[in-house]
Amino acid sequence: MKITAFDVNNPLEKTLMAMLASGRFPHAVILEGGNPSERLDLAKKIAAALVCSESKANAPCGICSHCKKAAADSHADIPFYTAEDKPRAFKVDAVRDIRNNAYIIPNEADKKVFILENAHTMGNEGQNAILKILEEPPSYVNFIMLCSTKSGFLPTVLSRATVFTIGEARNDADDEIRAAAVEAASAVAKAVTSIDDFELVKAAAVFEKDAKLLKASLPVIQEIFAAALREKYGASDGDTEFGTLPAELAGKLSRRALPDLIDACDKLMASLRMNANHNLMLTALCTTLRKAVSQ
Ligand SMILES: [Zn+2]
Repeated sequence: MKITAFDVNNPLEKTLMAMLASGRFPHAVILEGGNPSERLDLAKKIAAALVCSESKANAPCGICSHCKKAAADSHADIPFYTAEDKPRAFKVDAVRDIRNNAYIIPNEADKKVFILENAHTMGNEGQNAILKILEEPPSYVNFIMLCSTKSGFLPTVLSRATVFTIGEARNDADDEIRAAAVEAASAVAKAVTSIDDFELVKAAAVFEKDAKLLKASLPVIQEIFAAALREKYGASDGDTEFGTLPAELAGKLSRRALPDLIDACDKLMASLRMNANHNLMLTALCTTLRKAVSQ
């Protein structure tokens, strides 16, 4: 396959590009949705961008030796593991091999990028084995795990990875809930930039008696930060349902803080899926977002 630059007209690719350019790409990502070849092509593009010797804002350049090897599937630092799409097809032996391989430093690139196709077919034993390395990965390692749906992963694995969905929107809340979620999420995202901690607590108060609204709002908060990150890199959609908020946030939040906030939203969504206590979730919402901006 030919390695091409990210498509700036595709919102997901723009978000990935901005996260890569920020130099703070998550160690573990899950690509779900789309069809198998869409997932694999996108994974290869991300892997090429991570090993590319061009500046991160222009990666993958498609012409450096790293990109060329990535395109020919012959880059020594992009190990590829695959399994059939059926239960437990991704064997625990393969996971052990991945773990051993991950501790061997890269051959020629700064990074070592593991692409794991049909990773959701790992059984519990395999997932627990991969979890050990997701918890404390060597600094040079990235994992890109591909699946039709993330629902096959254990919550513990999901909590360690950032999930990107190909194709469809990130949430399916109905129009009424969506409108309420956009309003609540906008208030929270705005409050994150306030120097007064209490602003965020006040903005989150709307969720106190409404767990359903919190569930609908978390992905929207993440969408807002992703829109702000695109704004920061001049890759904005222009007119969004969030009005001028992404531009305002891009002006106030750093290139470091925005990817951290996007990642923080993923961690919060993972906690929610693990049925965390609602009051604890509210506290976690405030402290996690605060921590992401103050680092
Ligand atoms: Zn390159």
